[in-house]
Amino acid sequence: MAEKGGISVQTEHIFPVIKKWLYSDKDIFLRELVSNASDAIMKLRHLSAIGEAKNIDDNYSIWVVIDKEKKTLSVSDNGIGMTEDEVKKYINQIALSGALDFIQKYDSDAEDAKGPDGIIGHFGLGFYSSFMVAERVNISTKSYTDAPAVFWTCTDDGEYEMVQGDRTSRGTEITMCVSESELEYLEKSKIAEILGKYCSFMQFPIYLEVVGEELPKHKETDAQGNEIEVMDERKPINDTEPLWQKNPSQCTDEEYKEFYKKVFYDWNDPLFYIHINADYPLNFKGILYFPRLKNEYESLEGQVKLFYNRVFVADNIKEVLPDYLLMLKGVLDCPELPLNVSRSYLQGSAYVEKIANHIVKKVCDKLNSLFNVERENYEKCWSDIKTFVEYACIRDKKFFDKVKDSLIFKTTDGEYLSVAEYNENANKDKTEKVIYYTNDPVQQAVYVNLFKARGIPTVVLEHVMDSQFITSIEQGFENTKFMRVDADASALKGEGDADKNEALEKLFIEASGNDKMKVEISPLADEKIPALLNISEQSRRFEEMMHLYRLSGEDVSAYSMPQEATLILNSNSALIKKLSSADEDLAKQLSKHIYTLALLGQRKLSAAELSEFVETSGKLMEKLL
Ligand code: ADP
Repeated sequence: MAEKGGISVQTEHIFPVIKKWLYSDKDIFLRELVSNASDAIMKLRHLSAIGEAKNIDDNYSIWVVIDKEKKTLSVSDNGIGMTEDEVKKYINQIALSGALDFIQKYDSDAEDAKGPDGIIGHFGLGFYSSFMVAERVNISTKSYTDAPAVFWTCTDDGEYEMVQGDRTSRGTEITMCVSESELEYLEKSKIAEILGKYCSFMQFPIYLEVVGEELPKHKETDAQGNEIEVMDERKPINDTEPLWQKNPSQCTDEEYKEFYKKVFYDWNDPLFYIHINADYPLNFKGILYFPRLKNEYESLEGQVKLFYNRVFVADNIKEVLPDYLLMLKGVLDCPELPLNVSRSYLQGSAYVEKIANHIVKKVCDKLNSLFNVERENYEKCWSDIKTFVEYACIRDKKFFDKVKDSLIFKTTDGEYLSVAEYNENANKDKTEKVIYYTNDPVQQAVYVNLFKARGIPTVVLEHVMDSQFITSIEQGFENTKFMRVDADASALKGEGDADKNEALEKLFIEASGNDKMKVEISPLADEKIPALLNISEQSRRFEEMMHLYRLSGEDVSAYSMPQEATLILNSNSALIKKLSSADEDLAKQLSKHIYTLALLGQRKLSAAELSEFVETSGKLMEKLL
């Protein structure tokens, strides 16, 4: 006797709601069914392991079969199966009320559920989500026990019928008679895409079959030596042992790189990776990659795929990473997250915050270990990661504190030095330690060379962010200051005292048109340089800051600080020595020229300065003829 029932009695609305699901992502029904199949196998495996189920062949697998002629799509497993009572209980009652709960929650969470950024874990709707694409769903199931097989069928208006089934082998087959409006779910490419997205790392092999489709063939030689055509073996669509599940000590460098390329479709090797295996209470696993950026204009948007026990949940989970690590790519498997995860949940969750903190700690550990153990490698990828590391240091004091000793700076000679190494090298026994830097090694070559001649390295900090970064470092290292090469007059000078020559000073003040500028006559180490400009670090930084404020539209006219500029005339230079005895007109032209040369060594000339410079050069050369 067939048992008939109307699911619609208690649930008038459920089927129309499922059917007209506004949800942008209908595809998830397949994930639900394949997850159920996988759970059913897991349950049986467990029973077999504890001796409750006997003589179980463990050739576990899940089959997704498309039958275009019959317009059906089915998902079958050789798991635990269901008895009649179990179908009544699990499908007619539990699954249904679960679906109802879900829909009610979905309704009340409508804000969360809208759009592609809506609900993250769409788990919950379960078995009944099959009605999103089907007008009828059949279950053909046989329990692993001796109980008879069961056949259950239900239409999308909620009428079900249950009879004894004819299935002979253990397991369950869910068959969807695909609705006319959803025929795309009979396309192999569509199903392969969905399985690829959600099921790529599930733990039992999943096979995709299209009824009537032959597999590709290959040639083999038989026992008689004849060449014969043999059909290729069907391969599962999934990787049943995803790398993140393995023990890091058992994974090779090659495997990490291969996994990265496969999952993120990136032809380039990642710079480095971090395998996280966090135990209780965090209990999550994952692999994070620092991608190699092809150019600085490339989007810095990374990609973190969130999994729930190997089932894909969502992409681009920004909430589990601090913003300064968003360029990371990777996979995170968090079985501790509740099934129904929404973005707003993630944003306020203490658990998610702990995950984020753990990831930050792991990233810092990795940077420190690269610095300490793989220095060469670290230096090789420094230019790629520098920007992130600096940004992270500026954004997060804790991050900075953890990695500050591993920060390295490239010198104009292409060498890399940490703060400690620089100080050891150039500031030994000094209480006030100064790290000299240039923001333009070409423009400021004159200064850099003066330092080099004295054995002092100059580090290159040419990024816009560097001025902020410098401030972070100065706060983090006691008695260490950064000074741009043109900022420290005392370091540029050679042996000998300053001279006094008021006439010369006046001449240069006039030449510069800047009566706030100081003029000093002192010996410089290199006699070929007639003069150098020196701008105090403090006043230049202030100007830079004001410039940034102005760029962002703020009125900073009330704040001003005179530029502390000093022109050092080189008393060792023959040109400067002879200048006092030159006739007045020539002295004026030369002083202007010398001043401009000093400017040129320090910054770019303005358009007016440059054209005047060219003119004066021409006039001066005329005098040589
Ligand atoms: P959930 O999987 O979240 O429990 P579902 O609505 O998807 O909710 O399924 C309800 C129940 O139906 C499952 O808990 C399980 O007991 C049973 N079930 C579903 N699919 C299968 C299957 N392929 N094999 C055995 N039991 C199943």
